[in-house]
Amino acid sequence: MHKAAQLPDPDPHPRHHAVPPYLLMSMAACDGAWDASEGMREFIAPPPEPGEAEGPGAETRARIATRARRTLLLDQALLHDRATTATDLDRLIEPSGRLIRAICDAQGAETTPGTDARTEGLGPVADEDANRAFDGLGAVHAFLVEMLKLNSLDGAGLGLGLGGTVHYGLHYANAFWDGTQMVMGDGDGEIFESLTSSLSVIAHELGHGLLQHTTNLAYRGQSGALNESIADVLGALVEQFTAGQDAASASWLIGEGLFTDKVRGLGLRSMAAPGTAYDDPVLGRDPQPATMSGYVETAEDHGGVHLNSGIPNHAFYLFATALGGKAWETAGSLWFNVVAMRALPEDADFGTFAEQTLLQARRDHGAGSKVELALADAWDTVGVVPRVKDAEQG
Ligand SMILES: [Zn+2]
Repeated sequence: MHKAAQLPDPDPHPRHHAVPPYLLMSMAACDGAWDASEGMREFIAPPPEPGEAEGPGAETRARIATRARRTLLLDQALLHDRATTATDLDRLIEPSGRLIRAICDAQGAETTPGTDARTEGLGPVADEDANRAFDGLGAVHAFLVEMLKLNSLDGAGLGLGLGGTVHYGLHYANAFWDGTQMVMGDGDGEIFESLTSSLSVIAHELGHGLLQHTTNLAYRGQSGALNESIADVLGALVEQFTAGQDAASASWLIGEGLFTDKVRGLGLRSMAAPGTAYDDPVLGRDPQPATMSGYVETAEDHGGVHLNSGIPNHAFYLFATALGGKAWETAGSLWFNVVAMRALPEDADFGTFAEQTLLQARRDHGAGSKVELALADAWDTVGVVPRVKDAEQG
């Protein structure tokens, strides 16, 4: 069994950055010296050595490190800026049920929202980032409408006033959901393209908005990794739904298109093969495990929430591809029905979530159904044992 030893306290208002800290730390070349939760503001590790055998030259490497360090510093400052992290999706709900989008341009400043860039009812503008953010919010909304048709997701949350801010900060290589809107940087220009380049990342961030509305999953350890994983599932499914792709032909990548062509990698994470999304001289190798045998015990990153999310991610991939067809119709619908039941305990671990999905499979498709068996098989393959928590029995 995996003990939740030395885990940090759950973060009551996690900032949900799109690019996980371990990846930025590789770029910043700070060898674990960075600890955002401790508030460390200095980089102890020396700058990258010139003349390394592989990867970009010393000058480029230094620029990547400088910009990544700046992104980490900004992320850390945001992390401690509780005043603007108040989570309040409810006040964004538009009673008319209409989708009202507003994209703003921070113009390189570190404040939001900035000037109006594109609003609902107006056509495309010259700024491609504003258009991609606008279209991304629309794609997530269209997907949620489809989910509502398929299952019992709370319809009250669908008429959303969705906001976004683009061009946040200078060379800022991250994006986040701030509790009320999506905020996206332009990328550092060396490793990351604009953070609006990936629909799965936009949908992932909005997934955190949906989850804060429907669950109380504590943002640490396995419950935090479940939060990250369900956001990834939404990210992948919105992309597949928008492209009309079936499970077999989808990339199952999160953050495809985010890396510049200088990076040896496909995206931030791979649900099909966690641990293989990138292998690059600057970024290192994708550290995600695919199964419980690779479960990472760490206090960093809220207890590895972006690492161990690879395990439930892979279970979903195995389940959806075993069923075939459109992944959102049966597998995705089941996942989001579990979320919509609002029955996940705050400290739900992988086993608890697996049990909830199996219960849902029996409710929706019958005991011993093909769907239930495929799902049981998927959890078994990733080494997660479904279990009922003591408190829930009876
Ligand atoms: Zn996330």
